[in-house]
Amino acid sequence: MKKHNFSAGPSILPQEVILKSSQAILDFNDDGLSILEISHRSKAFIDVMENARALVIELLGLEGKGYKALFLQGGASSQFLMVAMNLLEKKAGYLNTGAWSNKAIKEAKNIGDIYEVASSKDANFNNIPKGYSIPSDYDYFHCTSNNTIFGTQMKSFPNSPIPMVCDMSSDIFSRVLDFTQFDLIYAGAQKNMGPAGTTLVVVKEEILGKVSRTIPAILDYNSHIAADSMYNTPPVFPVYTTMLTLEWLKNLGGLKAIEELNEKKAQVMYSEIDLNPLFKGFSVKEDRSLMNATFTLEEQKLKETFETMLKEAGISGVNGHRSVGGYRASMYNALPIDSVKALVEVMSELESKA
Ligand SMILES: *Cc1c(COP(=O)(O)O)cnc(C)c1O
Repeated sequence: MKKHNFSAGPSILPQEVILKSSQAILDFNDDGLSILEISHRSKAFIDVMENARALVIELLGLEGKGYKALFLQGGASSQFLMVAMNLLEKKAGYLNTGAWSNKAIKEAKNIGDIYEVASSKDANFNNIPKGYSIPSDYDYFHCTSNNTIFGTQMKSFPNSPIPMVCDMSSDIFSRVLDFTQFDLIYAGAQKNMGPAGTTLVVVKEEILGKVSRTIPAILDYNSHIAADSMYNTPPVFPVYTTMLTLEWLKNLGGLKAIEELNEKKAQVMYSEIDLNPLFKGFSVKEDRSLMNATFTLEEQKLKETFETMLKEAGISGVNGHRSVGGYRASMYNALPIDSVKALVEVMSELESKA
């Protein structure tokens, strides 16, 4: 039986995407070859790559606005470095909202001077700092839209006087935003759009080529743009599966439709957390993530009972990250609302037993 999959990443994909991609492993386009064994220079794969890149730009509403979509490797973690190599001449400002921001800051410090414009570290990152200002003489501003581990999410973005870079690994394609306010967006595929193995970068071309250092070709966005995201062998299967997920999303009605679904799921989840006296939400209400709901069980003596009940209900992947403890329900795009209802049912059943 298929489980209710709340895994934080790699995470749930639409069932039809799993079926189509497994079919492509057996026989791609009914052509007698597996997608795993054809050239990335074949027309069949170039079509996949071009379709995936075009869907990214279309779904984000960035057509004709000077952006390029790239499917790279090395994970969002390699973007922590690559962003700085390509954009950082002297200094950059980072918003520190948790573990991933911290890692981004640490890597960028290898390249130049990094200043934290604000941080919620003192509150163990249970909120998103607000009311900070961004110096206009920095090279860029970096933020993390959704903090996967702590369960907070930026609901609005600052009016940045300098290029704005955003790590959207765990909420890309989950809601409607004005994406033209960002100059560079990156996201590991494995949270909300595909399997592990590819990293999406969407970059406004005009911000590139401004630093004085020599950038090694493999780390230079311009080499990847010039080669239509095929500078070297791309991660063929993750790109194909991501393309299928983006097609699924488009057929569903795009970001507007998925945002409505995600809001409904989050509403069901958080109202149980708030109403059930056995549970307590981790992050402050106004900054709660629609993607990752973090909460703790107040009565530790019920832990075993709760976890047995979860298991019996086929609920998987709700353990919290070690830096927060408790539980984390990741409700990415592909998670059906019925899975959220199943989890909430177990939570309220626990209350009636307590
Ligand atoms: C998971 C995650 C990362 C790390 O992604 P990798 O692809 O494993 O390098 C970075 N940022 C955020 C917000 C994440 O959720």
